[in-house]
Amino acid sequence: MFQGSFWVYLVCFLAFSAVVVWGSFDIQLGYFVNSITHKRTRIKEIALTFDDGPTEFTPKFLDILKEHQVKATFFCIGKQIEKYPETFQRIIAEGHTIGNHTLSHSNSTGFLSTSKMIEEIETCDAIISKVGNITTDFYRPPFGVTNPNIAKAIRRTHKKSIGWNVRSLDTITDSEKKIYNRVTKGLKKGSIILLHDTSEKTYNVLVNLLLFLKEKKYSTFTVDSIISKPQKS
Ligand SMILES: [Zn+2]
Repeated sequence: MFQGSFWVYLVCFLAFSAVVVWGSFDIQLGYFVNSITHKRTRIKEIALTFDDGPTEFTPKFLDILKEHQVKATFFCIGKQIEKYPETFQRIIAEGHTIGNHTLSHSNSTGFLSTSKMIEEIETCDAIISKVGNITTDFYRPPFGVTNPNIAKAIRRTHKKSIGWNVRSLDTITDSEKKIYNRVTKGLKKGSIILLHDTSEKTYNVLVNLLLFLKEKKYSTFTVDSIISKPQKS
């Protein structure tokens, strides 16, 4: 009798843990935080989003985007902005949208307290405003990780969490062809694509992706166009 209920308890506990862990890592589930993962739209438009910059590679990304007259959204890390302030200013000057991607993109993001998470977001905000003279409503969770502490931090800093529904896996896949295929295969109206302006590899993928978008007559949007400003009544 005792043994039987122990196993039931254990199975329930493991199932619950699995759901929580899965929910923490799959941004599309919106388990803890309602992240925006796509735009509801009837037209063929998609969003290019670049995380973890600015880096030494970012200027090349900006060059090719400019060549194609495409605006993107850059979720920047505070410490990277401090390393590449001029590149950050160039992203803004060229009309792209900026989002907050925390101060340090800590590997232990999923284990930080609410106050530490708030500090990560607010310090990044301070750097964004000091270097770029702008503010942003948008936040993207490092590694796509959300949990109750992060959810609270997002609410207290009044951010809108922006996820994705097309994941390129460009930081862990070696083959440019595979990354390109994964992105183009999953594309739908309103898709938000997750990329990183952190390597030559992703730059090469972007070159081909921009040609693909042109050929398939996709236009692009930035994440600020998803959130409609409240009407004054
Ligand atoms: Zn990141």
